[in-house]
Formats: sequence, C-alpha cells, structure tokens
Amino acid sequence: MKTILPNQTIGIIGGGQLGRMMALAAKEAGFKIAVLDPTENSPCGQVADIQIVAPYNDETALQELADVSDVITYEFENIDYEGLQQLCETAYVPQGAELVRITQNRMNEKAEIAASGAPVANYITAQNFEELQSKIEEIGYPCIVKTAFGGYDGKGQVKLDGPEELHQAASLFEHSVCIAEAFVPFEKEISVIIQRNAAGESFCLPIAENIHKNHILHESIVPARVHQEVLEKAEEAATQIANHLALVGTLAVEMFVLEDGNIIINELAPRPHNSGHYSIEACNVSQFHQHVRAVCGWPLREPKLWAPSIMVNVLGEHVEPLMKVINDFPDWSVHLYGKAEAKVKRKMGHVTIMTDNIESTLKEIDSTAIWSD
Ligand code: AMP
Repeated sequence: MKTILPNQTIGIIGGGQLGRMMALAAKEAGFKIAVLDPTENSPCGQVADIQIVAPYNDETALQELADVSDVITYEFENIDYEGLQQLCETAYVPQGAELVRITQNRMNEKAEIAASGAPVANYITAQNFEELQSKIEEIGYPCIVKTAFGGYDGKGQVKLDGPEELHQAASLFEHSVCIAEAFVPFEKEISVIIQRNAAGESFCLPIAENIHKNHILHESIVPARVHQEVLEKAEEAATQIANHLALVGTLAVEMFVLEDGNIIINELAPRPHNSGHYSIEACNVSQFHQHVRAVCGWPLREPKLWAPSIMVNVLGEHVEPLMKVINDFPDWSVHLYGKAEAKVKRKMGHVTIMTDNIESTLKEIDSTAIWSD
C-alpha cells in the first residue's frame, strides 16, 4: 500500500459537489488538488489547484491529470470505464477500475451483490422487450423495470402493477438492456457508507435513514430510526459486499428495510454519497476525510457521531427561500456548492442540523415551508 502525503497531489475525475467536498477535506491536510471536468469553474474546479477542462473520456486530458497527480480518485461512477482502466496502467489509482465497471451496469451490480451473499430482490435480466415478456412471470407483479445503464434519481425505470401495463416498459429498451425486479414493500430506506483502505481496514459511518421526494433524496436522518438489530444486519451486509469487492475507497450501499426487520440491498454507489453529507459536522471523521485517508493509504479513523442529525438537500427552487430565513436558524450548517445556475430540481447545496430532538427538528424544518413543494 502506497502512502500519499500532504503537499502531494490528488487528482479527481469529476468536478461536482462530491469532488468539491473531497477536495476541501484534502486541502485541510495540505494536499494539492487537480480536477478533470468538462466545465470551467465546476464546483470542484473552484477550490482545486489545477483545473483540466475536457470531457471525462479525453485520453490526452486523462494523461495530463495522471502527469500532475500522485494518486487518482473519482467522484462519480459514470466515467469512462476503458479510460479509467488505461489510467490504471500509467497512474496510481488505488480504487482500480473494476468497481466502476460493476456499478455502471445494474446487471453486474445485482449479480455481485448476490454473489457476496447479501440479500437482493428477486430479479431477471432482459436484452430486449421480448425477453422481458417471456421472463416476467418469474418475478410477477408488482415489479420495477430499470435500464441497466445510465439511470439515476428514478430516471430510466417503470413500475408495473400488472401484465396490462407491461407495454410501458418497452421504451426503456431504446436506451439500454434492462433488469426487472420484484417490488419491495419497504418500510424505510437506509444507506450504509462503508470505507476501506488497501490494507483491508474498514469502517461504516453511522447509518442514515433516507426520505425521497420525486425520486430525489430529500432528507437523511441519522441515526436511522430502526431497531439496533437492523443496524447490525445492515452493517454486516455492507461489510460482506465491501470485502467481496475488495473495496478501496468508499461504497454507499442503499437498502430497503422491511416491516419484519429484514433488509434488501437496492443499489451501490462507489463514491461518497449524498446521505453521508451530515458527517461533515456530525462526525469526528467525515465521509470525505475518510475517503482521502483510504485512497492515500492512511489508517482509517473509527467514526463517531457527535449528535443525532438531519441533512436536508437544497435544490434549485429552495435556494431563494432558504436565503430569506438563514438568519433565523443559527444552528443550521449551510453548504452551497458554487453552481452557477439554480435550476429546478438541481442539487445546489444542503443543510445539516445537529439536534437532540429529531422529531421537533423535523417539524421546525417543515414549518419554514422552504421544502413544501
Ligand atoms: P434506484 O434508482 O434503484 O435507487 O431507485 C430509486 C427509488 O425507487 C428507490 O430509492 C426506491 O424508493 C424506489 N425503488 C427502486 N427499486 C425498488 C423496488 N424493487 N421496490 C420498491 N421500490 C423501489
């Protein structure tokens, strides 16, 4: 395991908010940051020492990043797999390319989760609509058909309540091959963020309960309001998956919690996750600090939660109303990512609130009407 030290340069592929928060954490310790992103002054570009402005799959730009960096990481999974694979030959990429290959494709992802022994919903794979038609009875209804590639925030998926709705899934195949999985009547959604270094040392962050609106994460509540046994089961499953994948870096494991306390793994993200932003204020080590430690070959720190917390996402339409009341809530930690345009539904920032009373803080958040849409 190679150790990367302050004053050396961490190269980040992707210049969004995750890269920005990774860079800010790394810069505290004195690392330098180089970032590759197609846009000038991206959220991460604004805080980086070196900006390389080019598409993620531009070979020359990737090589330029490799030339100025002592270690390379990434902030999202939809980067070019072949490009990353090539980079592994010429640069130090401790996370490797395999995890990106797996998580870019729901077919591979489901197969790997199942192979790790962690529970997944019953599913089938289909290369085309005819194959879906012929196999769907294996899982029955209700079910969800999802494109294997490129879906996010609920895009690229259709819920089917019966065979009469099957035709609704046909257009998904214009984009990609698909999987179909049994609909899970979950009680709660939670996520476990697990981080591991090349020496095999790993820790999970305190587990978040996630509340979505319009398929976009709205709030994370930490610790998740589930029984201790559920938390233990969730950590165990995440550790099983991380070990199976020989994880280096960060893996977010999204899960459903059923009424009987059983869990089912939904999907993986091989990077810091929106549901872990609370850890910046609420933990002794944030997901971004820990990620930097993991990819730089440092020993990991055991995460501790200072106080129960709520993280609320700030989308484009929430920025203005939030600014109006910001002075009324001195306890709110406000983060904005430096994005130029506050487009509706675009993630512009988040707020973290540490509290000793989750329920009353949830009411306080609602009372502002910022998030009443
Ligand atoms: P995904 O893009 O797979 O994270 O799905 C987005 C959201 O759709 C999830 O956060 C769930 O709320 C819902 N969802 C996805 N898959 C299922 C499923 N098999 N059963 C029930 N709800 C699901």
